[in-house]
Amino acid sequence: MEQLIIIGSGPAGHTAAIYAARANLKPLMFEGLLAGGVAAGGQLTTTTDVENYPGFEHIQGPELMERMRRQSVHCGTRIVTETVDKVDLSKQPYKVFAGGKEFQTKTLIIATGATAKRMNLPGEERLWQKGISACAVCDGALPFFRNKVLAVIGGGDSAAEESTFLTKFASKVVLLVRRGEMRASKVMQERVRHHPKIETQFYTVAIEVLGEDKVTGLKIQNTKTGAQSTLDIGGLFYAIGHVPNTEFLAGQVEVDTNGYIKTQPGTTKTSVPGVFAAGDVQDKVYRQAVTSAGTGCMAALDAERYLSEK
Ligand code: FAD
Ligand code: NDP
Repeated sequence: MEQLIIIGSGPAGHTAAIYAARANLKPLMFEGLLAGGVAAGGQLTTTTDVENYPGFEHIQGPELMERMRRQSVHCGTRIVTETVDKVDLSKQPYKVFAGGKEFQTKTLIIATGATAKRMNLPGEERLWQKGISACAVCDGALPFFRNKVLAVIGGGDSAAEESTFLTKFASKVVLLVRRGEMRASKVMQERVRHHPKIETQFYTVAIEVLGEDKVTGLKIQNTKTGAQSTLDIGGLFYAIGHVPNTEFLAGQVEVDTNGYIKTQPGTTKTSVPGVFAAGDVQDKVYRQAVTSAGTGCMAALDAERYLSEK
């Protein structure tokens, strides 16, 4: 019987593991085997430069995650390279199923992250991370987006927030909204509307990303008139939502309308006692490596407290 099982191996999972191992909980981590299409180590393994993780002015995403993994192991975490298929949280001890085996645990930390939705446009595969990104806060400050016209696709709070953020670097931001109105909160919409550097095009969809080794343009279509045109852009940002990796929970932990695990404010406690959630799987607002690491730390401390109270 395990004291603590951690599912997921991004910054949240590894930070939880480091804290739990140092607290002598001997955590067992399932790091995933291309779970949700992402390598063990999580979303940062899919990027290049990370310039906003404190302590590292500049580090490659995969290297940062390799360092976190090494530190987890060094502290005493046991890592299994399997994806968790299902869990049974109906009674203690909780059961975790992976690689055809059953594992039992007193506490569980879910740190399985979320996956940004992609559009699968023609040209997207070729130009992904060569001018196309799904995270403006992460990538917007990179030199090749500076003083360029940048396009953002989406109409929610993320699209509004990311468009506003990108105005710091871009010469102009063109926000493409597929309907006649935005889904974003009124206050965010107002901010976009009054910003001198943001132009919003409603009833507009993207149909092809142009460029050979970097993004140079976007073919778009007005859905009312059917008219097609080309935008000259130096970068494209998707802000069309994320899918939290919670399918394997099969509804046993309470989630919100977007599928994110609900945690009690100020803690990582879920609707199930002894089950905690950390990182992007429970955070639809901040979605950063450092905030994931922060909640990973909280989850380990919450699990430790739960075990000692028991
Ligand atoms: P994730 O990193 O998503 O990791 C979750 C892990 O759990 C994955 O490896 C997944 O395979 C695994 N998993 C999922 N389901 C299961 C399962 N059933 N069983 C076992 N394992 C499972 N943030 C920054 O702060 N700075 C940046 O510069 C930055 N750049 C980014 C660039 C890109 C391209 C992307 C996509 C994101 C970027 N981010 C950046 C955001 C950052 O990567 C995320 O906020 C952070 O990785 C979330 O950490 P996490 O631990 O919650 O989950
Ligand atoms: P949402 O699901 O709220 O919005 C996604 C947007 O993308 C919608 O406008 C949708 O259009 C559009 N969209 C989806 N698919 C496509 C497509 N294929 N082509 C073009 N457009 C598409 O996601 P968000 O990430 O914006 O927000 C998720 C949650 O996080 C929300 O609850 C939001 O309030 C919250 N959030 C809060 C923030 C804050 O408070 N600061 C910041 C960021 C997010 P349509 O409207 O037509 O469906």
